Amino acid sequence: MNGIERLVLASNNTKKAKELADLLAPLGIEVLAQSAFDVPEAEEPHPSFVENALAKARHAAALTGLPALADDSGLCVPALGGEPGVLSARYAGEPKSDARNNARLVERLASAADRRAYFYSVIVLLRRADDPRPLIADGTWHGTILEAPRGENGFGYDPLFYLPELEQTAAELDPALKNTLSHRGAAMRHLLERLQREAP
Ligand code: IMP
Repeated sequence: MNGIERLVLASNNTKKAKELADLLAPLGIEVLAQSAFDVPEAEEPHPSFVENALAKARHAAALTGLPALADDSGLCVPALGGEPGVLSARYAGEPKSDARNNARLVERLASAADRRAYFYSVIVLLRRADDPRPLIADGTWHGTILEAPRGENGFGYDPLFYLPELEQTAAELDPALKNTLSHRGAAMRHLLERLQREAP
């Protein structure tokens, strides 16, 4: 694919990395986990998803010498002013816990009439750490937040993220279907379209 034969996935979240690897599978690129190179988690200090995705991809590319792909993503709830947003992974503080994050979200929305929410993902591909032209693409996925979790698949806020048209939460979906509908799937499709149009 455009001269890229191998790349490193800049994520230590194994469930998210699996989704990204499945989305990349049809391309025939060798996809390596950053954990295989003992790359520690990058700092994500920025107020925007795209800056954090760049920081993660640059960190992994610098430490491995390989092209790197990073996703930064989160759940945005308009009734909460966009929370948890870039703080999604640590909404209930350290150590990171999906269960405590979900409990906090339910509590914060207890009296909310508007329970709409959307997932957002931005994916960055750097050909090398000092790549002056990062490839960047994003995607969103709209749903509503339930009052109690449902389903065992996926990760993060999936058990609370309800899709009215399917009458299922993201955690009740088959993983392949989640990848066709999700923010991350949309971002990856946009990235691949861009990559195919790019000069090498
Ligand atoms: P990141 O790894 O720093 O980008 O954090 C992403 C966080 O956003 C995750 O830990 C989840 O809390 C949330 N998130 C992102 N994408 C999803 C998803 O597809 N399902 C559920 N939660 C997600």
